[in-house]
Amino acid sequence: MQLQKNISLKDYNTFGIDVTAEYFLPVTESNHIPELLTDSSLPQEQHIIGGGSNILLTKNLSGLTLLNQTKGIELLKEDNDYVWLKVASGEVWHELVMYAIEHGWAGIENLALIPGTVGAAPMQNIGAYGVEAKEAIESVTAWHKEQQEFITLNNNDCRFGYRDSIFKHDLKGKVFITHVVFKLNKQPSFHTEYGAIKAELEQMHVDELSIKAIAQAVINIRSSKLPDPKVIGNAGSFFKNPTISTTQYEQLKQEHEQIPSYLVSDDMVKLPAGWLIEQCGFKGCTRGGTGVHEKQALVLVNKNNTTGKEVWNLSEEILQTVQSKFGITLEREVQIW
Ligand code: FAD
Ligand code: NAP
Repeated sequence: MQLQKNISLKDYNTFGIDVTAEYFLPVTESNHIPELLTDSSLPQEQHIIGGGSNILLTKNLSGLTLLNQTKGIELLKEDNDYVWLKVASGEVWHELVMYAIEHGWAGIENLALIPGTVGAAPMQNIGAYGVEAKEAIESVTAWHKEQQEFITLNNNDCRFGYRDSIFKHDLKGKVFITHVVFKLNKQPSFHTEYGAIKAELEQMHVDELSIKAIAQAVINIRSSKLPDPKVIGNAGSFFKNPTISTTQYEQLKQEHEQIPSYLVSDDMVKLPAGWLIEQCGFKGCTRGGTGVHEKQALVLVNKNNTTGKEVWNLSEEILQTVQSKFGITLEREVQIW
């Protein structure tokens, strides 16, 4: 491990924003984490980066930036129905999904091709195509910086919600997640009702449904409509989908007949933020080096050497326009640094 100084973070965030880290240290061994985080000779202001696919860097980072590259997948136990896998937090999420599929273990196949690391998955309880990581997470182990000890949170302790968890609230900035234990199913229950999965499976002429086929369908859909960060910088959905009361929804529907919605409980509905943004005319727009993706209005993109400030300003413009047109306050999903 070598401490580096004034390192560009351009290659370590999927937006491709060029800011520097005052000090930079890749971490490859989980068991070095306690020693590192208690080392008083290292800067105490610390930032953890995994794949850098859910952050917007608006300034140079002072202090120490730790790049999580820890590896390891361990089969903890199994019975007739399930396997329990202990996975190091620096493992690449999509590689874990593919590893599970190769072994015939179900539960995370709908989450194929989500960028980033395993350790960041519990942070925002990653979700896609009707499945959330919380459904497969048994527990999360982390080094608690203040308590100077490892803590293990079971699924309930993590307080998972829609793109949310305790790691974004009470434990924000306080822990380094080192391992996640997943409970995967030997007997799959397929989730194909969501979005375009069924249509894609038909298109693929799949005769027998399998977790491999579902993952491939998800990969095909995602590749066709989401910008590849290697080609055009972005951090996925910039905003969360807002949830409002059915009463507010009925009022909105009077003025905006076409407004789509998804019932989440008896009295709450989720609205696709991408639709709201598109209605405000932002889809495909350009502001300096940044803009909104042509195919998905929820994704802000780096069109030409943009800065974090420029992206932030566009997100602010979108927030205010959606607020005044629909009376809805969007919430940013991406972590702003
Ligand atoms: P980073 O961006 O590196 O970090 C995100 C936050 O987590 C930071 O606050 C960081 O400090 C913290 N963090 C990271 N690792 C640790 C750790 N070990 N311990 C403590 N804190 C940590 N998200 C979805 O939910 N569903 C999707 O379908 C989806 N699709 C995407 C598509 C694209 C093209 C892109 C670019 C992003 C997408 N995302 C999606 C968002 C993103 O991929 C996820 O949020 C992912 O989990 C972020 O992982 P990361 O390792 O890149 O996190
Ligand atoms: P999509 O399928 O075009 O759907 C648009 C929105 O409608 C999604 O945000 C989704 O909400 C919601 N939706 C669609 N079908 C639904 C259903 N049957 N029940 C409930 N809600 C439904 O979306 P997309 O942009 O192509 O993304 C597909 C999936 O990948 C979504 O689950 C999305 O969340 C996920 N994704 C996430 C990110 C990220 O950065 N967070 C980036 C890209 C894609 P939900 O978002 O709540 O699912």
